[in-house]
Amino acid sequence: MYDDLKSEVCQANLELSKRGLVTYSWGNVSGIDRQNGVVAIKPSGVAYDQLTKDNIVLVDMEGKVVDGNLRPSSDTPTHLELYRAFEGIGGVCHTHSTYATMWAQACREIPCLGTTHADHFHGPVPVTDEMQADEIASDYELNTGRLIVRRFRELDALHLPVVLVANHGPFTWGSSPADAVQQAVILEQVAEMAYGTLMLNPGQGQISAALQAKHFLRKHGKDAYYGQENGE
Ligand SMILES: [Zn+2]
Repeated sequence: MYDDLKSEVCQANLELSKRGLVTYSWGNVSGIDRQNGVVAIKPSGVAYDQLTKDNIVLVDMEGKVVDGNLRPSSDTPTHLELYRAFEGIGGVCHTHSTYATMWAQACREIPCLGTTHADHFHGPVPVTDEMQADEIASDYELNTGRLIVRRFRELDALHLPVVLVANHGPFTWGSSPADAVQQAVILEQVAEMAYGTLMLNPGQGQISAALQAKHFLRKHGKDAYYGQENGE
């Protein structure tokens, strides 16, 4: 059942581990089959070297397990909330990667300090509000998703597929599970560079709006010209 989706999600989770973005099992990737309303996600607490296509768990949009013997990742309600709110996305990724998590713990958005950032993200990487006691006490993971969605009320989730959950860490998303992982890898790199930049020059400000727009739009705008026409 849903073998392709499970394989894709398994591969994406393994990629996260290969890229060094996860310690133990602190991370998870999911993918969605929108036509059938089914989400495939990493099982809870399973080490990456034990992960196979066959232990990927399938849940419906309410989080009910529809296939698999293991419990889904405890972050599943967060993933589902993002799929409900951001209709164009096909994959979600969560890590506690070091530099992105440092910014999240500091409750600081990552300013756009250079063209590496501008190539990929349209504006600063946002950080959510801190969670309130009642949001922590019940439906914590669902409320984490709601916190993210609230932060994106006036942001375009497709142009800015990354967020820092305050006091916690990054969530990223994309057109597929593999794309969501790629955003997590890029975010970690951007977070490390921004940290280093502000260490070297604490007064450094964001690059100009003109330079930000130039770099983002040459890759993502309707007149994008970066790369080859066949998409390579
Ligand atoms: Zn987490």
